[in-house]
Amino acid sequence: MPAPVAVGAYVHIPFCVSRCDYCAFATWTDRHELRSAYVDACIGHVRAVQHGEGLLADSLDPWPDATTAATVYLGGGTPSQLEIGDLQRLLAAIDRVPGAEVTIEANPEDVTPRWAAAAAAAGATRISLGVQSLDETVLRGLGRAHDPAAVVSAAAAIGVAGISSYSVDLIFGGCGETDKSWLATLEGVLDLEPSPSHVSAYALTVERGTPLWRDPARYPDDDVQAARYDVADRVLSAHGLEWYELSNWALPGHESRHNQNYWAQGDYLAIGAAAHGHRSGHRSWNLRTPERYIAAVASGTSPVAASETLTEAERRTEALELSLRTRRGVPAASLPVRSDPALDGLVEPIGQGRVALTLPGRRLANEVACRIDQPEMSKIT
Ligand code: SF4
Repeated sequence: MPAPVAVGAYVHIPFCVSRCDYCAFATWTDRHELRSAYVDACIGHVRAVQHGEGLLADSLDPWPDATTAATVYLGGGTPSQLEIGDLQRLLAAIDRVPGAEVTIEANPEDVTPRWAAAAAAAGATRISLGVQSLDETVLRGLGRAHDPAAVVSAAAAIGVAGISSYSVDLIFGGCGETDKSWLATLEGVLDLEPSPSHVSAYALTVERGTPLWRDPARYPDDDVQAARYDVADRVLSAHGLEWYELSNWALPGHESRHNQNYWAQGDYLAIGAAAHGHRSGHRSWNLRTPERYIAAVASGTSPVAASETLTEAERRTEALELSLRTRRGVPAASLPVRSDPALDGLVEPIGQGRVALTLPGRRLANEVACRIDQPEMSKIT
């Protein structure tokens, strides 16, 4: 019998206490009563996909072999809103390789010592904490439910539980944020006890249909955000957290293996409502609402809503665009480095015939990606 194929596994948990002003994710604030049935559905789905078990397995586009998860990522929504028992049985149902990375996204106000200990016992090796800011005014402006004190308690609980890797998510460019308060947030995060081994910092974006979108007075300013990005890079790298993707910095060895698999076009399972999966250029996504997802799995019907298959050319383009966003960069031949003056100062050689974005280049990554050389690209294996 062939060994199971090791893949990533993304599990979407679409429940939140309240909706943040900028959020357009597939999540609901009024359906907590579905949580247990939803976890049942996720367990049925993962067993069908990983092992071909149950009625549902017959209705799915099968993976070629049994799979086992090299990385598991519980994202959302707010996975820390699950009952602890549901969290434990969900993770127990996902077959994983020894030493698998298991990340759980959590909101600071949920991370009590009891929750962190239970998460560790369930196999979590990594917590991704939705901090966003340590400035009370900015948090209120983003519509976040927690206060800065909750972040301090959450970090301590993670440390006591012995979870050795944790990440802090930050957002810059929110209403009421100043140069001073952004610097204070970065320094405050690095002063947490224990301090995070990983930080993700994203520019606030305005998503259509959100409360933020309806209030142009609160739209972020591009120049301000560019300056805030530079400050983040300077402060984080001075503390030993190196950039490895546009919005991600980590201590060596604490990079997110799950996300690195995405950026390398690896394969990953999609479990849960609205989750997206990928296998060898074939992408699929699940039914969007928890009710429809639960009903599909319960009736033995595939919860996959739709899929698409990329052409080889599309895969090559995507591979280069994803890799350009990382410190691995791209083959120098895929960019007109010598002939296009617009690229001056935006990319630099990193050895072995590759180039990567400089700090100014990271701020203009989309413009650089537009210059990826299509004819040259087809010659790159
Ligand atoms: S906690 Fe996250 S998923 Fe939930 S509403 Fe806020 S940004 Fe969206």
